[in-house]
Amino acid sequence: MNFNIGIIGGGPAGYTAAFQARKKGLSVVLFEKDKIGGTCLNKGCIPTKAILHSAEIFEEMKCAADLGINVENISVDYAKVVEHKDKIVEKLRKSLELSLKNTGVVVVNTEASIEDGKIIANGETYICEKIITATGSKPRDFEGLRFDHKFILSSDDILELKTLPKSIAIIGSGAIGIEWARIFSAFGVEVSIIELAEHLLPLADVEVSKRVERIFKSKKIKMYINTSPSSVLRTPSPTIGEKDKCVITLKSGEVLEPECVLLAAGRTPFVSVPSCSLALGDVCGKIQLAHFAIKQAISEISEIEFDENLVPSVVYGCPEIAWVGKREQDLKEGTYQKSNMLISALGKSHCDNCTEGFIKILSQDGKIVGAHIVAKEASAMIQQITIAMQNNMTIDDLKKVCFAHPTYSEGIFESLFRF
Ligand SMILES: Cc1cc2nc3c(=O)[nH]c(=O)nc-3n(C[C@H](O)[C@H](O)[C@H](O)COP(=O)(O)OP(=O)(O)OC[C@H]3O[C@@H](n4cnc5c(N)ncnc54)[C@H](O)[C@@H]3O)c2cc1C
Repeated sequence: MNFNIGIIGGGPAGYTAAFQARKKGLSVVLFEKDKIGGTCLNKGCIPTKAILHSAEIFEEMKCAADLGINVENISVDYAKVVEHKDKIVEKLRKSLELSLKNTGVVVVNTEASIEDGKIIANGETYICEKIITATGSKPRDFEGLRFDHKFILSSDDILELKTLPKSIAIIGSGAIGIEWARIFSAFGVEVSIIELAEHLLPLADVEVSKRVERIFKSKKIKMYINTSPSSVLRTPSPTIGEKDKCVITLKSGEVLEPECVLLAAGRTPFVSVPSCSLALGDVCGKIQLAHFAIKQAISEISEIEFDENLVPSVVYGCPEIAWVGKREQDLKEGTYQKSNMLISALGKSHCDNCTEGFIKILSQDGKIVGAHIVAKEASAMIQQITIAMQNNMTIDDLKKVCFAHPTYSEGIFESLFRF
């Protein structure tokens, strides 16, 4: 069978490339060994955020009385939370499958490999002018710290839990670790988070990391920073009917006994990419984010410019955390200006009962070079800064824009006058 483009992997990188190629009138075959939508839709962005929303509602309900809403006896039915998440994922997956079909993408539900420049799947050979490898990534474990899918769980396993553990230790405080710490803590699970680096969320601006630590402390999340496990042992319980114990000894000497462990210390590309194919998305091992994969695919197929230095990051902490561009620790002292503003200065934050956070903007030569936001709507706000940076707008250009009131965005506007 002959096609213009053969794509291996039906995640954001693969399906975006397929849609873009069809728009150009090219014939496309797409191979998916598991579920269309990839990690993002089935095991990542969407299911996590669906559960996170339930956690958020539960947390907000606890303070509802302060807002004049009386609710009594609120409780969590975690099996239902998971069921709700599954419904969302299934609905979105069906809609994506239908779009691919309606767009004329030939989807083959099987594992594929590349041999001698051809794609082999189910014993068939597919000859394609261009081959794209978009096979994604998988959770990474380590020598001495292997997933056993029972006590030592991956981000895939954690989505399958039907009941909440009493306590959990999360190893790694990147986006996945932070989001699950926030979810479990909201649901009343005793959470400990272990991070090898000096601060939580090591890829963030250090001021953001410190703020997250402060927020976690207020939520009684235990933090073990600048350390890592020297051993993780599962000790069978001597009493019948009692759960086995999981004992983590840290290099710093502390001993933790959580019910289970979430190992969230990075992801590894699925396969090494043969030189005859173009790699897109997580498999490249560059920036492992869905929007990076999507933008990369659009840029490759439709030749639309993509500045890889301007990829926003969003972490759905409590509140949201987002940043783009340079961090303060990346800049040389005396070469930049900064504006800093507390979210509590905004009327909207009080109306929403969410005054936690700040907006920090870094500038050089009258232009924004980085922005770091901790706020309820940080995920939407960071996009405004990204658009300004992408279009080379100066701070004076941005001052000409009219920002609506009362919004969180007007915090960006006010920040411009604080340099
Ligand atoms: C818990 C979690 C939360 C996340 N949250 C966010 C978030 O909020 N925002 C964000 O931007 N990113 C998030 N991510 C990251 C995001 O999911 C990935 O960056 C994105 O899915 C990468 O897309 P991809 O197309 O490169 O790979 P994937 O989505 O992994 O898709 C690859 C696909 O290829 C298939 N495949 C692999 N090998 C073969 C083969 N040989 N034959 C056929 N099919 C094959 C796989 O089954 C898979 O479906 C999260 C990830 C996790 C794990």
